[in-house]
Amino acid sequence: MRGCIHKIASGAKQSFPSDHAALPPTPAQRAADLDNIVAEQRNVGLIIMQFKDVRPEPFTKEIRCDRCGRVALLGDAEFEEMVCIDSRAGYGSVFGDGNDLLVDLCQHCFKDVLGPWLRVSGPGDRQVQLDNMLSRFDPERHGGEFPGTADAGPQAETAPERH
Ligand SMILES: [Zn+2]
Repeated sequence: MRGCIHKIASGAKQSFPSDHAALPPTPAQRAADLDNIVAEQRNVGLIIMQFKDVRPEPFTKEIRCDRCGRVALLGDAEFEEMVCIDSRAGYGSVFGDGNDLLVDLCQHCFKDVLGPWLRVSGPGDRQVQLDNMLSRFDPERHGGEFPGTADAGPQAETAPERH
């Protein structure tokens, strides 16, 4: 299965003013504008080859929980804690090869439905885990490979040698 589970990032997208819906310039107007810009740049001794512009982008402003119907608005704490799954089923999937899987759950439903299986850890736990793994790394023994579970603890001495 390919895909990702992600939380909505705060402030990832910005809103744009509602009066931004003016008609885009015609190709002729755009070409004339670019000619004017190039002429202005030449007058001040600059020649630019890339022309920057801004454009509005879509953004998520509201998420409704698929399970309980809770509505979370952009800027709310509940919005930041929504769990959105957007995944594509692969070959052999029980959902059918190539089908899209989508669900938006509030944090409360996420905990209610998956609570017993969720692995919740503190903010620094992953770093401690990574530091422990890295401390077992021996470049002479591992030859540049990252240590595996066989390298951890006393069972490492009885583990078969890998070639
Ligand atoms: Zn919910």
